[in-house]
Amino acid sequence: MSQTCPSCNAPLQSRFICVFCGSPTSAHAQTVDEEFELLAELNRAAQAITAKAIDASSNGLVKGTLSPVITARATQATAIFWQTAPIPRTPEALRHAAYEALAPIVGRINQQTYFGASPLEITLLARAESLIGYLENQDPTQSDVSRLKRLFADKKARIQHAKRKTMVLWLGIIIALAIGHSLT
Ligand SMILES: [Zn+2]
Repeated sequence: MSQTCPSCNAPLQSRFICVFCGSPTSAHAQTVDEEFELLAELNRAAQAITAKAIDASSNGLVKGTLSPVITARATQATAIFWQTAPIPRTPEALRHAAYEALAPIVGRINQQTYFGASPLEITLLARAESLIGYLENQDPTQSDVSRLKRLFADKKARIQHAKRKTMVLWLGIIIALAIGHSLT
């Protein structure tokens, strides 16, 4: 069986989504095992999309000299991928995906605008919120629901902290400019 992806023409090496561009195939994950396979494919696709965005915008640059702008473009592309990434249905996969979405959130500042938090982290937080919501709807007594909610609140606070930090940074620049202006 040698199919190719209808979107990017890469040979399909996975079952549910193309791991090069993230487009869905005609297969649908249904069992717990299949949904775990889908989640693994989503992670591979996210890595490929990040790498592709870095490659595309760092043409001619020596590796290891990633500028904040290139990093920001790559996180933006990855954020767009996660915005439309499928949500599993089984509680096991929902729980796993929610922990996975929350894990990388540390409260990074948006390096493209220096205003607010990284768009990737904001997207992952929103994905985690949906995943936890679905999980809670299915079985609110799950012990992981309250643990995930606490973790979610902590990560949300980190993102808000990143937003506040950039506000203070900009406020400092504005005040410095105003003082400089009033002295001349
Ligand atoms: Zn593809």
